[in-house]
Amino acid sequence: MRRGGRHMAYGERGRPRPSVVDLADRRALEAYRPADQGVVAEARRLKEAALLDFGLTESVVASWLYSKCPHQIPTTAVDTAAVVASGDGTCLLLYNPDFFVGLGLDGVKFVLFHEARHLVHRHLLADPELREDPVFTLAAEVAVNHVALARLGRTELPLLDGRPTGVDPRAVHDAYREDLTAHGLEPLAYEEFIETDMRIYGELKRMCDPPVPPPLCPHLVTGVPADQETVDAMTSSALLNALLAARRGHAGAERELLDLMRRTEEGSARAAKLWGKLGAGVLRGATARTGTVDWWQRWLVDVLGSRLRDGERLVYPKKRGALLAALGQDPMLARRGPVRDKVLVIAYDTSGSMPDRVIDWLTRLVGRIDGVQAHWLSFDTVVMPFRPGERSEMGVPPDEGWGRVYGGGGTSFQAVADYVEGRTEVAGRRCDVAPDAVVVLTDGYAPPITPAEPEKWIWLITEGGKDWPETHTPAMDCHRVTTGSR
Ligand SMILES: [Zn+2]
Repeated sequence: MRRGGRHMAYGERGRPRPSVVDLADRRALEAYRPADQGVVAEARRLKEAALLDFGLTESVVASWLYSKCPHQIPTTAVDTAAVVASGDGTCLLLYNPDFFVGLGLDGVKFVLFHEARHLVHRHLLADPELREDPVFTLAAEVAVNHVALARLGRTELPLLDGRPTGVDPRAVHDAYREDLTAHGLEPLAYEEFIETDMRIYGELKRMCDPPVPPPLCPHLVTGVPADQETVDAMTSSALLNALLAARRGHAGAERELLDLMRRTEEGSARAAKLWGKLGAGVLRGATARTGTVDWWQRWLVDVLGSRLRDGERLVYPKKRGALLAALGQDPMLARRGPVRDKVLVIAYDTSGSMPDRVIDWLTRLVGRIDGVQAHWLSFDTVVMPFRPGERSEMGVPPDEGWGRVYGGGGTSFQAVADYVEGRTEVAGRRCDVAPDAVVVLTDGYAPPITPAEPEKWIWLITEGGKDWPETHTPAMDCHRVTTGSR
């Protein structure tokens, strides 16, 4: 990965220029020649408004992608906008405040959609041979801008200082038609030419003299730090979340994903394989070949991955691929770099019936997460710590019992919060660790609680249970555990 090298950003023409600061260095970016405060505030407002619109309407995928950029920095160190990998496994969104204010809301949305789509391309169509071909770079620009125009309901590219900025797909098609016709070849009509990303590339390759403009975007060329692993992890997570939204009835997410699949899987073995692994065939009513698809498992691995990451990366072992979890195999996460262990608390509600299969899977998953110190609890009205490997790991008390108070029944999430937050003792011992994440496996039937740090709590609700954490204020991460195929 190159840092501080040459870069170009959206719509720039001409020669790449050297970066003025390390684009992965947050503090340097913030410190570099700050723009006027009023401009920064307006640019930030436009950015927020654009991302909100995406989530509600035009692009669930883009909305998820940007939600995975923990830092979104207005900086004059880039001329336009770019998503860069920060080196810790997360991405930064950089945007030039003057550029955004000059574009206005419609232009900002176009540029942000464009950037997001590039990341998706980079994930789905990452064949190194393709990426080295400047004709592919142009094809990607054409494809991305065509989709941006269509999805955002535009007829023109965004204007900057009264002039359109970016590659115009129709103009490229015109040049293609003229080139082929001049050489006695039959060109495709625009609608056919533009249908899939790889077809655009294939058709441009038929040209005697394919236009190769100067590099336009940072992502497919040089300089902007964006390692494949980070892009893969971030994009597959965004696609997974969009897919889950689609399955829960978000019609916009479903349409966007179906369209994205149709545009990318044809002609690209990698894209077809990634869609298959993701289980996206379910949107077409197809059954995944791998059989049972446990969406909640994919979801949990994804959520845990983000909770347990903090300033260093938690990665899927490279060889097995970032979408390992989606294969229905046991996911495995590994940690990179010298850092303190992350602390994970897993709490099983033993008052209801906990499916053994689920408990087994969770126990194995946590056992495989590298660099994590796990604390296991079972609870009903009281909390009982235990060690996996003991019989209690199955949520069943040891033969001699745990010495807990039986009778009275019921369940108390507050008992878990009180213990985890250090207010109560169990067997004379206090929980003296600050967890990075708390996973609660329960049927949800007990009075709702608001933990001190709700963003760290992850609720897995068993079948027939009550998923109140999702609609609680504040809402918490929550997913239904299913033991069937759906
Ligand atoms: Zn681009």
